[in-house]
Amino acid sequence: MYLHLSSTTLTLAVMIRNLFLLYFISCSLVAFAQADTTQIVIPGRANRLEQQEKPYVILISADGFRYDYAEKYQAKHLLALREKGVQATSMVPAFPSKTFPNHYSIVTGLYPAHHGLINNQFYDPNRNEYYTIRDRSKVEDGSWYGGTPLWVLAEQQQMLTACLFWVGSEAPIKGIMPTYHYQYNEQLPMERRINIVLDWLQLPEEKRPHLITFYMPEVDHAGHRFGPDAPETVQAVHEIDEAIGKLTEEVAKTGLPVNIVFVSDHGMTNVDMEHTLTVPSIKDSANFIISPGDVMVELHAKNKKKVRKTYRQLKKNEEGFKTYLKQSLPEQWHYGSKDDTYNRIGDIILIANWPYIFHAGPNKPSPGHHGYDPAAVKEMHASFYAWGSGFKKGQRIESFENVHLYPLIAELLGLTYAHQIDGDKRVVEEVLKR
Ligand code: AMP
Ligand code: ZN
Ligand code: ZN
Repeated sequence: MYLHLSSTTLTLAVMIRNLFLLYFISCSLVAFAQADTTQIVIPGRANRLEQQEKPYVILISADGFRYDYAEKYQAKHLLALREKGVQATSMVPAFPSKTFPNHYSIVTGLYPAHHGLINNQFYDPNRNEYYTIRDRSKVEDGSWYGGTPLWVLAEQQQMLTACLFWVGSEAPIKGIMPTYHYQYNEQLPMERRINIVLDWLQLPEEKRPHLITFYMPEVDHAGHRFGPDAPETVQAVHEIDEAIGKLTEEVAKTGLPVNIVFVSDHGMTNVDMEHTLTVPSIKDSANFIISPGDVMVELHAKNKKKVRKTYRQLKKNEEGFKTYLKQSLPEQWHYGSKDDTYNRIGDIILIANWPYIFHAGPNKPSPGHHGYDPAAVKEMHASFYAWGSGFKKGQRIESFENVHLYPLIAELLGLTYAHQIDGDKRVVEEVLKR
Protein backbone atom coordinates (compact mmCIF):
# COMPACT_ATOMS: atom_id res chain seq x y z
CA MET A 1 0.00 0.00 0.00
CA TYR A 2 2.97 2.35 -0.35
CA LEU A 3 3.47 4.52 -3.29
CA HIS A 4 6.41 5.49 -5.44
CA LEU A 5 5.51 8.99 -6.55
CA SER A 6 6.89 9.08 -10.05
CA SER A 7 3.92 10.08 -12.17
CA THR A 8 3.83 13.62 -13.41
CA THR A 9 0.26 13.39 -14.65
CA LEU A 10 -1.32 12.71 -11.26
CA THR A 11 -1.03 15.44 -8.71
CA LEU A 12 0.27 14.46 -5.31
CA ALA A 13 -2.98 15.58 -3.72
CA VAL A 14 -5.01 13.16 -5.82
CA MET A 15 -2.64 10.34 -5.13
CA ILE A 16 -2.66 10.97 -1.41
CA ARG A 17 -6.43 11.04 -1.48
CA ASN A 18 -6.48 7.67 -3.21
CA LEU A 19 -3.98 6.33 -0.76
CA PHE A 20 -6.12 7.46 2.15
CA LEU A 21 -9.16 5.90 0.56
CA LEU A 22 -7.36 2.60 0.21
CA TYR A 23 -6.15 2.84 3.79
CA PHE A 24 -9.55 3.56 5.28
CA ILE A 25 -11.41 1.10 3.10
CA SER A 26 -9.01 -1.65 4.09
CA CYS A 27 -9.38 -0.68 7.74
CA SER A 28 -13.15 -0.93 7.62
CA LEU A 29 -13.30 -4.25 5.78
CA VAL A 30 -13.94 -7.32 7.82
CA ALA A 31 -10.67 -8.94 6.89
CA PHE A 32 -11.04 -12.01 8.98
CA ALA A 33 -13.66 -13.88 7.03
CA GLN A 34 -11.56 -17.02 6.74
CA ALA A 35 -10.10 -16.75 10.24
CA ASP A 36 -9.80 -20.12 11.85
CA THR A 37 -11.17 -20.97 15.27
CA THR A 38 -9.03 -24.01 15.89
CA GLN A 39 -6.40 -23.89 18.54
CA ILE A 40 -2.83 -24.10 17.31
CA VAL A 41 -0.73 -26.21 19.64
CA ILE A 42 3.03 -26.66 19.45
CA PRO A 43 3.55 -30.33 20.25
CA GLY A 44 6.12 -31.85 22.56
CA ARG A 45 6.37 -29.06 25.11
CA ALA A 46 5.96 -29.30 28.89
CA ASN A 47 6.64 -27.07 31.89
CA ARG A 48 9.96 -27.74 33.53
CA LEU A 49 9.37 -29.08 37.07
CA GLU A 50 10.60 -25.86 38.67
CA GLN A 51 8.18 -23.80 36.54
CA GLN A 52 5.20 -25.84 37.73
CA GLU A 53 5.65 -24.25 41.17
CA LYS A 54 5.31 -20.74 39.74
CA PRO A 55 2.14 -18.62 39.85
CA TYR A 56 0.01 -17.79 36.81
CA VAL A 57 -0.53 -14.49 35.00
CA ILE A 58 -3.49 -13.64 32.80
CA LEU A 59 -2.62 -10.48 30.88
CA ILE A 60 -5.88 -8.97 29.63
CA SER A 61 -6.05 -6.09 27.19
CA ALA A 62 -9.26 -4.26 26.37
CA ASP A 63 -8.24 -2.24 23.34
CA GLY A 64 -8.91 1.49 23.67
CA PHE A 65 -10.13 1.24 27.29
CA ARG A 66 -9.35 4.83 28.27
CA TYR A 67 -7.86 5.49 31.72
CA ASP A 68 -11.10 7.04 33.00
CA TYR A 69 -13.67 4.63 31.52
CA ALA A 70 -14.01 2.38 34.57
CA GLU A 71 -15.11 5.29 36.73
CA LYS A 72 -16.88 7.29 34.04
CA TYR A 73 -19.04 4.33 33.06
CA GLN A 74 -19.15 2.64 36.47
CA ALA A 75 -17.61 -0.65 35.42
CA LYS A 76 -18.60 -2.28 38.69
CA HIS A 77 -16.43 -5.40 38.53
CA LEU A 78 -13.28 -3.56 37.55
CA LEU A 79 -13.87 -0.92 40.22
CA ALA A 80 -14.27 -3.60 42.87
CA LEU A 81 -11.37 -5.74 41.66
CA ARG A 82 -8.90 -2.87 41.52
CA GLU A 83 -9.83 -1.96 45.10
CA LYS A 84 -8.86 -5.49 46.11
CA GLY A 85 -5.67 -5.19 44.12
CA VAL A 86 -3.66 -2.35 42.63
CA GLN A 87 -4.35 0.49 40.24
CA ALA A 88 -2.44 3.25 38.47
CA THR A 89 -3.84 6.72 37.87
CA SER A 90 -3.27 5.82 34.22
CA MET A 91 -0.86 3.92 32.04
CA VAL A 92 0.96 6.04 29.50
CA PRO A 93 1.18 4.61 25.99
CA ALA A 94 4.27 4.92 23.86
CA PHE A 95 4.16 7.28 20.90
CA PRO A 96 2.34 6.83 18.55
CA SER A 97 -0.68 5.86 20.68
CA LYS A 98 -1.78 3.13 18.27
CA THR A 99 -2.64 -0.52 18.84
CA PHE A 100 0.22 -2.51 17.34
CA PRO A 101 3.12 -0.39 18.63
CA ASN A 102 1.67 -0.37 22.15
CA HIS A 103 0.61 -3.98 22.50
CA TYR A 104 4.06 -4.93 21.39
CA SER A 105 5.71 -2.44 23.80
CA ILE A 106 3.75 -4.02 26.66
CA VAL A 107 5.10 -7.50 25.92
CA THR A 108 8.66 -6.50 25.00
CA GLY A 109 9.40 -3.64 27.41
CA LEU A 110 10.70 -1.66 24.42
CA TYR A 111 9.61 1.59 22.81
CA PRO A 112 8.19 1.12 19.28
CA ALA A 113 11.31 2.38 17.48
CA HIS A 114 13.32 -0.18 19.48
CA HIS A 115 11.05 -3.17 18.79
CA GLY A 116 10.30 -2.31 15.17
CA LEU A 117 6.49 -1.98 15.08
CA ILE A 118 6.61 1.79 14.78
CA ASN A 119 2.97 2.10 13.71
CA ASN A 120 -0.06 0.03 12.66
CA GLN A 121 1.24 0.44 9.12
CA PHE A 122 4.66 1.56 8.02
CA TYR A 123 7.10 1.44 5.16
CA ASP A 124 10.44 -0.28 5.62
CA PRO A 125 13.00 1.19 3.18
CA ASN A 126 15.58 -1.55 3.85
CA ARG A 127 13.11 -4.25 2.82
CA ASN A 128 11.27 -2.01 0.38
CA GLU A 129 8.08 -3.46 1.86
CA TYR A 130 5.06 -2.19 3.71
CA TYR A 131 3.78 -3.69 6.99
CA THR A 132 0.08 -3.36 7.72
CA ILE A 133 -2.06 -4.94 10.41
CA ARG A 134 -4.54 -6.19 7.78
CA ASP A 135 -1.95 -8.17 5.84
CA ARG A 136 -1.82 -11.62 7.41
CA SER A 137 1.40 -12.49 5.61
CA LYS A 138 3.11 -9.62 7.45
CA VAL A 139 1.35 -10.07 10.79
CA GLU A 140 2.44 -13.74 10.84
CA ASP A 141 6.01 -13.07 9.67
CA GLY A 142 8.35 -13.06 12.66
CA SER A 143 11.07 -11.16 10.81
CA TRP A 144 9.14 -7.90 11.37
CA TYR A 145 9.24 -8.22 15.16
CA GLY A 146 12.17 -7.26 17.37
CA GLY A 147 12.68 -7.77 21.11
CA THR A 148 11.80 -10.84 23.15
CA PRO A 149 8.06 -10.99 23.89
CA LEU A 150 7.13 -12.33 27.32
CA TRP A 151 5.81 -15.60 25.89
CA VAL A 152 9.12 -16.16 24.07
CA LEU A 153 11.04 -15.39 27.26
CA ALA A 154 8.88 -17.89 29.17
CA GLU A 155 9.09 -20.63 26.55
CA GLN A 156 12.89 -20.19 26.43
CA GLN A 157 12.84 -21.06 30.14
CA GLN A 158 10.50 -24.00 29.58
CA MET A 159 7.44 -22.34 30.98
CA LEU A 160 4.38 -22.83 28.79
CA THR A 161 2.34 -19.90 27.46
CA ALA A 162 -1.00 -19.38 25.70
CA CYS A 163 -2.33 -16.46 23.68
CA LEU A 164 -5.96 -15.80 22.96
CA PHE A 165 -4.73 -13.10 20.64
CA TRP A 166 -1.98 -10.55 21.12
CA VAL A 167 0.05 -8.58 18.64
CA GLY A 168 2.96 -10.79 17.62
CA SER A 169 1.54 -14.01 19.05
CA GLU A 170 0.76 -15.43 15.60
CA ALA A 171 4.33 -15.15 14.36
CA PRO A 172 7.40 -17.18 15.25
CA ILE A 173 9.59 -14.59 16.99
CA LYS A 174 13.16 -15.72 17.53
CA GLY A 175 11.75 -18.93 16.05
CA ILE A 176 9.38 -19.42 19.01
CA MET A 177 5.60 -19.31 19.20
CA PRO A 178 3.41 -19.62 22.29
CA THR A 179 2.58 -23.28 23.00
CA TYR A 180 -1.13 -22.55 22.52
CA HIS A 181 -2.62 -19.82 20.34
CA TYR A 182 -5.51 -18.89 18.08
CA GLN A 183 -5.52 -16.99 14.83
CA TYR A 184 -6.99 -13.51 15.33
CA ASN A 185 -10.78 -13.73 15.05
CA GLU A 186 -13.12 -10.99 16.24
CA GLN A 187 -16.20 -13.16 15.78
CA LEU A 188 -15.44 -15.52 18.65
CA PRO A 189 -18.29 -15.12 21.19
CA MET A 190 -17.26 -13.79 24.61
CA GLU A 191 -18.42 -16.90 26.46
CA ARG A 192 -16.27 -19.09 24.22
CA ARG A 193 -13.26 -16.83 24.82
CA ILE A 194 -13.69 -17.09 28.59
CA ASN A 195 -14.01 -20.86 28.35
CA ILE A 196 -10.83 -21.11 26.31
CA VAL A 197 -8.91 -19.33 29.08
CA LEU A 198 -10.55 -21.47 31.78
CA ASP A 199 -9.80 -24.66 29.84
CA TRP A 200 -6.12 -23.74 29.74
CA LEU A 201 -6.12 -23.46 33.53
CA GLN A 202 -7.70 -26.95 33.79
CA LEU A 203 -4.87 -28.65 31.90
CA PRO A 204 -2.58 -31.01 33.82
CA GLU A 205 0.24 -29.18 35.57
CA GLU A 206 2.95 -30.01 33.07
CA LYS A 207 0.78 -28.76 30.18
CA ARG A 208 -0.84 -25.78 31.91
CA PRO A 209 0.28 -22.36 30.61
CA HIS A 210 1.59 -19.93 33.26
CA LEU A 211 1.29 -16.87 31.06
CA ILE A 212 -2.00 -16.31 29.24
CA THR A 213 -2.73 -13.28 27.07
CA PHE A 214 -6.33 -12.30 26.39
CA TYR A 215 -7.13 -9.46 23.97
CA MET A 216 -10.53 -7.86 23.35
CA PRO A 217 -11.24 -5.27 20.61
CA GLU A 218 -14.84 -4.23 21.43
CA VAL A 219 -14.26 -0.99 23.34
CA ASP A 220 -11.88 0.36 20.70
CA HIS A 221 -14.31 -0.46 17.91
CA ALA A 222 -17.22 1.28 19.62
CA GLY A 223 -15.01 4.26 20.54
CA HIS A 224 -13.96 4.76 16.92
CA ARG A 225 -17.35 4.29 15.40
CA PHE A 226 -19.52 6.16 17.88
CA GLY A 227 -17.07 8.22 19.93
CA PRO A 228 -15.85 7.84 23.51
CA ASP A 229 -19.01 9.39 25.00
CA ALA A 230 -21.55 7.33 23.05
CA PRO A 231 -23.96 4.83 24.63
CA GLU A 232 -22.47 2.11 22.40
CA THR A 233 -19.09 2.68 24.03
CA VAL A 234 -20.66 2.56 27.48
CA GLN A 235 -22.23 -0.75 26.50
CA ALA A 236 -18.91 -2.15 25.23
CA VAL A 237 -17.26 -1.14 28.53
CA HIS A 238 -19.99 -2.97 30.45
CA GLU A 239 -19.63 -6.05 28.26
CA ILE A 240 -15.90 -6.21 28.97
CA ASP A 241 -16.53 -5.52 32.65
CA GLU A 242 -19.00 -8.42 32.88
CA ALA A 243 -16.56 -10.74 31.11
CA ILE A 244 -13.80 -9.82 33.53
CA GLY A 245 -16.07 -10.26 36.53
CA LYS A 246 -17.08 -13.71 35.27
CA LEU A 247 -13.52 -14.75 34.40
CA THR A 248 -12.20 -13.68 37.82
CA GLU A 249 -14.98 -15.56 39.59
CA GLU A 250 -14.33 -18.76 37.64
CA VAL A 251 -10.56 -18.45 38.00
CA ALA A 252 -10.97 -18.19 41.78
CA LYS A 253 -12.73 -21.58 41.77
CA THR A 254 -9.59 -23.25 40.39
CA GLY A 255 -7.77 -22.44 43.62
CA LEU A 256 -4.62 -21.69 41.59
CA PRO A 257 -2.33 -18.75 42.42
CA VAL A 258 -3.44 -16.55 39.52
CA ASN A 259 -2.66 -12.89 38.91
CA ILE A 260 -4.85 -10.92 36.58
CA VAL A 261 -3.33 -7.85 34.94
CA PHE A 262 -5.89 -5.71 33.17
CA VAL A 263 -4.49 -3.14 30.74
CA SER A 264 -5.28 -1.24 27.59
CA ASP A 265 -3.08 0.11 24.84
CA HIS A 266 -4.33 3.72 24.59
CA GLY A 267 -7.42 5.85 25.07
CA MET A 268 -9.78 7.58 22.64
CA THR A 269 -10.78 11.15 21.84
CA ASN A 270 -13.41 12.96 19.83
CA VAL A 271 -11.95 14.68 16.79
CA ASP A 272 -13.14 17.52 14.60
CA MET A 273 -15.16 15.70 11.95
CA GLU A 274 -16.05 18.86 10.07
CA HIS A 275 -12.62 20.40 9.54
CA THR A 276 -10.24 17.68 8.46
CA LEU A 277 -6.70 18.09 7.17
CA THR A 278 -5.38 17.32 3.74
CA VAL A 279 -1.72 16.50 3.31
CA PRO A 280 -0.33 19.47 1.39
CA SER A 281 1.03 18.89 -2.09
CA ILE A 282 4.78 18.85 -2.29
CA LYS A 283 6.78 19.98 -5.27
CA ASP A 284 9.32 17.19 -5.16
CA SER A 285 6.76 14.40 -4.98
CA ALA A 286 8.67 11.93 -7.19
CA ASN A 287 11.23 11.66 -4.45
CA PHE A 288 8.99 10.51 -1.61
CA ILE A 289 7.21 7.39 -0.48
CA ILE A 290 4.29 8.20 1.77
CA SER A 291 2.93 6.18 4.65
CA PRO A 292 -0.50 7.62 5.46
CA GLY A 293 -2.40 7.76 8.73
CA ASP A 294 -5.09 9.74 10.52
CA VAL A 295 -2.86 11.40 13.10
CA MET A 296 0.60 10.85 11.61
CA VAL A 297 1.87 10.82 8.04
CA GLU A 298 5.43 9.64 7.35
CA LEU A 299 7.41 10.65 4.27
CA HIS A 300 10.39 8.56 3.24
CA ALA A 301 12.84 10.29 0.91
CA LYS A 302 14.34 8.23 -1.88
CA ASN A 303 17.11 10.80 -2.12
CA LYS A 304 18.08 12.13 1.32
CA LYS A 305 19.51 15.32 -0.20
CA LYS A 306 15.98 16.43 -1.01
CA VAL A 307 14.67 16.22 2.53
CA ARG A 308 15.46 19.72 3.80
CA LYS A 309 13.92 21.55 0.90
CA THR A 310 10.66 19.63 1.13
CA TYR A 311 10.67 19.99 4.90
CA ARG A 312 10.94 23.77 4.57
CA GLN A 313 8.12 23.81 2.07
CA LEU A 314 5.86 21.77 4.36
CA LYS A 315 6.84 23.84 7.38
CA LYS A 316 5.72 26.99 5.60
CA ASN A 317 2.29 25.48 4.97
CA GLU A 318 1.74 24.10 8.44
CA GLU A 319 -1.91 24.52 9.25
CA GLY A 320 -3.52 22.20 11.78
CA PHE A 321 -0.46 19.95 11.91
CA LYS A 322 3.24 20.04 12.76
CA THR A 323 6.14 19.06 10.57
CA TYR A 324 9.22 17.37 11.97
CA LEU A 325 12.48 16.13 10.62
CA LYS A 326 13.27 12.63 11.81
CA GLN A 327 16.29 13.99 13.67
CA SER A 328 14.32 16.68 15.50
CA LEU A 329 11.33 14.84 16.91
CA PRO A 330 10.73 15.45 20.63
CA GLU A 331 13.21 13.41 22.70
CA GLN A 332 10.52 12.02 25.04
CA TRP A 333 8.82 10.19 22.16
CA HIS A 334 11.84 7.90 21.72
CA TYR A 335 10.83 8.10 18.09
CA GLY A 336 13.49 9.64 15.89
CA SER A 337 16.88 9.02 14.22
CA LYS A 338 18.63 8.13 17.46
CA ASP A 339 16.06 5.47 18.40
CA ASP A 340 15.26 4.12 14.96
CA THR A 341 16.79 0.65 15.36
CA TYR A 342 15.03 -0.70 12.26
CA ASN A 343 15.28 2.44 10.09
CA ARG A 344 11.50 2.54 9.67
CA ILE A 345 10.69 6.09 10.77
CA GLY A 346 10.03 8.56 7.94
CA ASP A 347 12.52 11.33 7.10
CA ILE A 348 9.73 13.86 7.49
CA ILE A 349 6.81 13.39 9.87
CA LEU A 350 3.53 15.29 9.86
CA ILE A 351 1.49 15.14 13.04
CA ALA A 352 -2.05 16.47 13.27
CA ASN A 353 -2.76 18.90 16.09
CA TRP A 354 -5.54 17.60 18.31
CA PRO A 355 -8.52 17.63 17.58
CA TYR A 356 -7.69 17.50 13.86
CA ILE A 357 -7.03 14.44 11.76
CA PHE A 358 -5.79 13.87 8.23
CA HIS A 359 -8.64 12.59 6.14
CA ALA A 360 -9.41 12.15 2.48
CA GLY A 361 -12.31 10.87 0.48
CA PRO A 362 -16.00 11.66 0.30
CA ASN A 363 -17.11 10.12 3.59
CA LYS A 364 -17.09 11.82 6.94
CA PRO A 365 -14.47 10.44 9.28
CA SER A 366 -15.51 8.46 12.35
CA PRO A 367 -15.76 10.52 15.56
CA GLY A 368 -13.25 8.63 17.75
CA HIS A 369 -9.51 8.48 17.11
CA HIS A 370 -6.19 7.95 18.87
CA GLY A 371 -2.53 8.22 17.94
CA TYR A 372 -1.69 11.63 19.44
CA ASP A 373 1.15 12.38 21.84
CA PRO A 374 -0.03 11.10 25.25
CA ALA A 375 1.85 13.92 26.98
CA ALA A 376 -0.22 16.49 25.08
CA VAL A 377 -3.58 14.68 25.00
CA LYS A 378 -4.51 13.05 28.30
CA GLU A 379 -7.35 11.16 26.61
CA MET A 380 -4.69 8.97 25.00
CA HIS A 381 -3.89 7.46 28.40
CA ALA A 382 -4.64 3.79 29.00
CA SER A 383 -5.63 1.70 32.05
CA PHE A 384 -3.73 -0.51 34.47
CA TYR A 385 -5.40 -2.53 37.24
CA ALA A 386 -4.15 -5.82 38.67
CA TRP A 387 -5.21 -8.28 41.34
CA GLY A 388 -4.31 -11.74 42.54
CA SER A 389 -1.86 -13.68 44.65
CA GLY A 390 1.25 -11.58 43.90
CA PHE A 391 -0.26 -8.09 44.23
CA LYS A 392 -0.75 -5.88 47.24
CA LYS A 393 -4.27 -4.97 48.21
CA GLY A 394 -5.58 -1.43 47.88
CA GLN A 395 -2.37 0.05 46.45
CA ARG A 396 -2.57 3.07 44.14
CA ILE A 397 0.34 4.30 42.07
CA GLU A 398 0.99 7.25 39.80
CA SER A 399 0.80 7.07 36.01
CA PHE A 400 3.60 5.06 34.44
CA GLU A 401 4.76 4.17 30.93
CA ASN A 402 3.68 0.80 29.59
CA VAL A 403 7.26 -0.39 28.91
CA HIS A 404 7.58 -0.99 32.67
CA LEU A 405 5.08 -3.85 32.63
CA TYR A 406 7.58 -6.28 31.14
CA PRO A 407 9.88 -6.45 34.16
CA LEU A 408 6.83 -6.58 36.45
CA ILE A 409 5.35 -9.64 34.74
CA ALA A 410 8.75 -11.30 34.41
CA GLU A 411 9.17 -10.85 38.17
CA LEU A 412 5.73 -12.32 38.93
CA LEU A 413 6.59 -15.40 36.88
CA GLY A 414 10.17 -15.66 38.14
CA LEU A 415 11.58 -15.27 34.64
CA THR A 416 15.08 -13.92 34.15
CA TYR A 417 16.48 -11.92 31.27
CA ALA A 418 19.80 -10.38 30.38
CA HIS A 419 18.88 -8.38 27.29
CA GLN A 420 18.47 -4.60 27.30
CA ILE A 421 14.94 -3.22 27.66
CA ASP A 422 13.48 0.26 28.15
CA GLY A 423 11.32 -0.78 31.09
CA ASP A 424 12.56 -0.49 34.65
CA LYS A 425 11.27 -2.75 37.41
CA ARG A 426 11.78 -0.07 40.05
CA VAL A 427 9.05 2.13 38.58
CA VAL A 428 6.23 -0.28 39.41
CA GLU A 429 7.58 -2.90 41.83
CA GLU A 430 5.84 -1.30 44.81
CA VAL A 431 2.61 -2.97 43.62
CA LEU A 432 4.05 -6.42 44.32
CA LYS A 433 3.74 -8.25 47.62
CA ARG A 434 7.11 -8.70 49.27
P1 AMP B 1 -6.33 0.94 15.72
O1 AMP B 1 -7.43 0.98 16.72
O2 AMP B 1 -6.55 1.85 14.60
O3 AMP B 1 -4.99 1.12 16.35
O4 AMP B 1 -6.40 -0.53 15.08
C1 AMP B 1 -6.39 -1.61 15.91
C2 AMP B 1 -7.14 -2.78 15.36
O5 AMP B 1 -6.23 -3.87 15.21
C3 AMP B 1 -8.14 -3.33 16.35
O6 AMP B 1 -9.36 -2.69 16.25
C4 AMP B 1 -8.27 -4.79 15.93
O7 AMP B 1 -9.34 -4.92 15.04
C5 AMP B 1 -6.96 -5.05 15.18
N1 AMP B 1 -6.14 -6.11 15.79
C6 AMP B 1 -5.82 -6.28 17.06
N2 AMP B 1 -5.07 -7.39 17.25
C7 AMP B 1 -4.89 -7.92 16.05
C8 AMP B 1 -4.21 -9.07 15.55
N3 AMP B 1 -3.55 -9.89 16.38
N4 AMP B 1 -4.23 -9.30 14.22
C9 AMP B 1 -4.89 -8.47 13.39
N5 AMP B 1 -5.56 -7.39 13.79
C10 AMP B 1 -5.58 -7.11 15.09
ZN1 ZN C 1 -5.84 -0.07 20.16
ZN1 ZN D 1 -8.32 2.05 17.73
